[in-house]
Amino acid sequence: MAKYVYLFSEGNAKMRDVLGGKGAGLAEMTRIGLPVPPGFTITTAACNYFSAKGRFPPGLKATIATALAKVERKAGRKLGDPKRPLLISVRSGAKFSMPGMMDTVLNIGLNDRTVAALAAGAGNERFVWDAYRRLLQMFGRIVRDIEPRRFEAILDAWKAKTAGGKDTDLTAGDLRMIVDEFKAVYKAEGKDFPQDPRRQLDEAIMAVFQSWNGKRAVDYRNFHKIPHDLGTAANVQAMVLGNLGEDSGTGVVFTRDPATGERSLYGEYLANAQGEDVVAGIRTPLKVVDLKDRMPRIYRELDRHAMRLEKHYRELQDIEFTVEGGKLWVLQTRAGKRTAKAAVKVAVEMANERLITREEAVRRVEPAQVIQLLMPRFDERAKEAARKEGRLLARGLNASPGAATGIVVFDPDEAERLGRDEKVPLIMVRTETSPDDVHGMLHSKGILTSHGGATSHASVVARGLGLPCVVGAESIRVDYEDESFSAGETIVRKGEAISIDGTTGEVFAGRIPTMAADFQNERELLTLLSWADKIRRLEVWANADYPRDAVRAREFGAQGIGLCRTEHMFFEQERLPIVQRMILAATEAERKAALDELLPIQRGDFKGVFEAMGSLPVVIRLIDPPLHEFLPKYEDLLVEATELRLTGKDPARLAEVERLLKAVASMREANPMLGLRGCRLGIMIPGVTEMQVRAVFEAACELRKAGQDPHPEVMIPLVGHVNELKVERGKLERVAKQVMEEQGVKVDYKFGTMIEIPRAALTADEIAKYAEFFSFGTNDLTQTTFGYSRDDAEGKFLMAYVQRGILPVNPFQVLDRRGVGQLMRMAVERGRAARPDLEIGICGEHGGDPESIAFCHEIGLKYVSCSPFRVPVARIAAAHAALKEKAGPKGTD
Ligand code: PEP
Ligand code: MG
Repeated sequence: MAKYVYLFSEGNAKMRDVLGGKGAGLAEMTRIGLPVPPGFTITTAACNYFSAKGRFPPGLKATIATALAKVERKAGRKLGDPKRPLLISVRSGAKFSMPGMMDTVLNIGLNDRTVAALAAGAGNERFVWDAYRRLLQMFGRIVRDIEPRRFEAILDAWKAKTAGGKDTDLTAGDLRMIVDEFKAVYKAEGKDFPQDPRRQLDEAIMAVFQSWNGKRAVDYRNFHKIPHDLGTAANVQAMVLGNLGEDSGTGVVFTRDPATGERSLYGEYLANAQGEDVVAGIRTPLKVVDLKDRMPRIYRELDRHAMRLEKHYRELQDIEFTVEGGKLWVLQTRAGKRTAKAAVKVAVEMANERLITREEAVRRVEPAQVIQLLMPRFDERAKEAARKEGRLLARGLNASPGAATGIVVFDPDEAERLGRDEKVPLIMVRTETSPDDVHGMLHSKGILTSHGGATSHASVVARGLGLPCVVGAESIRVDYEDESFSAGETIVRKGEAISIDGTTGEVFAGRIPTMAADFQNERELLTLLSWADKIRRLEVWANADYPRDAVRAREFGAQGIGLCRTEHMFFEQERLPIVQRMILAATEAERKAALDELLPIQRGDFKGVFEAMGSLPVVIRLIDPPLHEFLPKYEDLLVEATELRLTGKDPARLAEVERLLKAVASMREANPMLGLRGCRLGIMIPGVTEMQVRAVFEAACELRKAGQDPHPEVMIPLVGHVNELKVERGKLERVAKQVMEEQGVKVDYKFGTMIEIPRAALTADEIAKYAEFFSFGTNDLTQTTFGYSRDDAEGKFLMAYVQRGILPVNPFQVLDRRGVGQLMRMAVERGRAARPDLEIGICGEHGGDPESIAFCHEIGLKYVSCSPFRVPVARIAAAHAALKEKAGPKGTD
């Protein structure tokens, strides 16, 4: 006959097929010598037999009797014994965890006789009657199929008579009466409650087997694609009771502190209590460490078992235990949940203790946990309290992680003044941001916008600055006139405090305390990152526009600058008028004068970035955005001109505004994103490319002469046709040669292009002939591949698409492998076919997203480039990608 019953002492962790997950776990703990309450597991094969034939396999009842006798001997109690009755539980447990989907029956063994015996002996009459009413209730519902409401109604009626109205307010006397009423329900239903404990047991086992085919369980398996023919095991186990007096109790212990990762037992213990009393939170539990003095023997034993379990599972354990009459029992162990800080500390220390390998340590820390450690974060308890107080005002897109709290300011000039001069912590709130607002953003603690998506101006700039940012909070209405915004019924005025969580997209009224991050002092994180660096193949570069960003990027471990958006330098307040003069120049001479003024400024900026990066590569991208972005808004000018005309106040200003209006009108485009931008600008506006290239090479030559070794890589944006590249390359070669001759030094440089238009990806072989490197601009490539505007698609329909499941994720946040990814793959293959040593990276926002980084690894890019604050995250994500590859293919799409 097949073996259908295994004592816990006969199994082990590998027997999940036969014993189910829970049974295998209990067997493993028993095997390694932990004090697990005795029991046995009836196999999944028995369940399958039962499902097919509607009865137990022949001989099973007798085998159960033999196993039960052994359990009784170990427990020193007997099922149904009127003096020392054994109570047992029957729990389901399949190979794969199906939490709450199948049935469990507790307190088996109670009947009218044993209740009386236990109530007399234990000195805890109330508990015993409560256990009996629970058994009647559970057995009725699960085994006898009695409508649960029948029992609940009785219980509710009794609770209503008490002062507190809770379960715990019921007295032993009340519970006795409830038991009588429950029995009457069985009678009225024409069903019996078996007083024979062995019948209780057999029927409970059958009910557990039946629950494998219950609707809940079948639906769950369909959803999770778990086969229906596995069956569940049934675990029959002696119950241990923590509420038998002051030398009993129950608790939970972690092998290390789950909040900090400190290596010391952490947890709670409640004397004379069952597990649910701890959860109910009525009495204050003791700290587990306090058991050291109060129950030194139990503490020592617990400590020993905890260490044994951690060593055995090589993982922080969360252990449930019970003390019954001075004897310690371990009920369950599992991997403990932990904070980001603890995750990093535990992983590093376990590797140092040789419990796990360094690779395993890296694998155990999620990129999202690294982000949390790098950003200021809210005190979680305070945030939870704010939620409970109804202070959650809105939810938007989590554009840039971290927590910020401060007063609301709408005007960027005011933000600059308050933030910079008066050091007031503030949150800038706008409908959306534009380059005109950057000076205010620089001095804010966080940004909130009602419109915009993951690659909107606010998102990109905030990520670059490491500023927490929530965008596209469409439920708020910003009223600049009134200097307020509304969120439902609430109105928040200028000067009032709000708090934003850029990690979750939440916006709260009032202040929530934040905790600062300190990268250089996160010792364990630095260690973990150094291990990740040895594992990964992808390099991690950073997007940095200013020398200060480059310095920060290097601190975070960047191995190069993958994108320096030179136009961001133009937006600095004192430079904008010069840029505007360049754009609006009526003659070539005027334009040249403006360009000549810009040259030394750009040269200074480039020099700063090169200096910060030493001999690491720096990709400098030539001017990209449509020119109208550098000019005042058409609508604003129109309003101003109309007002000036009506009032007749300032004719000089009116003339100036009208001149601007005319120029701006002439530059207006129906689709500016598809218009005169990117390399088209350099081609159409004489002198701009030459000035920028000259600034790059003059800066590099100067440093070269000073004995340094800069590595500029000049990048042309938005190329769609190889001829565009040819034209621009011609200019670059000429100017570079000229500058190097003038300066009398040579600089090692590269010339390359962004791939951000589908046509460029499709013709990558032609393009690679004129480019030494490609960098995927996946913001524009996503925009142009989907045909979705990166500026407002999220607010208009994209978020709704994601909510309705039309798209799985926002493609501006997580790279679309099938579409955009296919173009990238093609560009890599064709580009490398034409130029085998082509250097290829990515500088779109996806370069900082862990899932997208994994894809970049798969298609063999050399590097990912992301905002400085994401560099550590990318280092971990890149290591994960390499480890995943090493572990073997599991499908990528
Ligand atoms: C891109 O398009 O992905 C990119 C990096 O360029 P930008 O965001 O500046 O258009
Ligand atoms: Mg772009």
